[in-house]
Amino acid sequence: MAKMLYEGKAKKVFATENPDEYLVYFKDDATAFNGVKKGTILNKGILNNKISTFFFNLLGKNGIPHHFVRMVSDREMLVKTLTILPIEVVVRNIAAGSLAKRIGWEEGRKLPQPVVELYYKNDELGDPLINEYHARAMGLADDAQLKAIQELGLKINAIMGQYLKEKKLELIDFKLEFGLHKGQLLLGDEISPDTCRFWDSETGQKLDKDRFRRDLGDVEDAYKEVLFRLTGEKF
Ligand code: UDP
Repeated sequence: MAKMLYEGKAKKVFATENPDEYLVYFKDDATAFNGVKKGTILNKGILNNKISTFFFNLLGKNGIPHHFVRMVSDREMLVKTLTILPIEVVVRNIAAGSLAKRIGWEEGRKLPQPVVELYYKNDELGDPLINEYHARAMGLADDAQLKAIQELGLKINAIMGQYLKEKKLELIDFKLEFGLHKGQLLLGDEISPDTCRFWDSETGQKLDKDRFRRDLGDVEDAYKEVLFRLTGEKF
């Protein structure tokens, strides 16, 4: 039995025989509001593994360095080992969620240009919003890394946004995590309806974790619809 290195809210990470690779296992557990709301979304682990696999492949083809190696089973993917930078990079195209609240814009109002935000990845503090100065002063990342993660965030936004638009999905906002593998900065974590907001381009229907956060129902179906739009796979 491989050694579990870490268990998070939605995933478990295991060591493998290869010292350069981890095995990530996707769970059905769902949490929101910094772990206050807990539940499960049936098959979420499988759907997010498939959706993340799709996005890592799309981004890789477009020159984005990432940790994904390959999918090994329904709920598992192999990734390169990473030392994660304790910074969450959020990119937004349309005001929603915490931004809509913070600046007093109605949800759904288009931002004239993409907005990049940094959050300090710290559960005890509830992942507070920070800026580059905080990140540098706290020693979370150096100048080059801060520049790179924000530029990569915008590039990823352009690549994903364009693809999703073709599939009649609006990319509202999303969260990324980056880490270092043998000195190389790579995109890590997952890219899924847990970490992105996707709205149907025509109806505005929410097809992401907001269905769970806000008790909108049909959560599993929303994740299935995202997989179908992206890949054509009927789960
Ligand atoms: N997000 C995430 N993990 C977090 C916080 C946010 O994946 O811990 C994602 C979220 O799904 C959304 C984007 O980042 O796509 C922006 O989230 P927001 O700041 O609006 O916070 P929320 O409304 O989720 O509390």
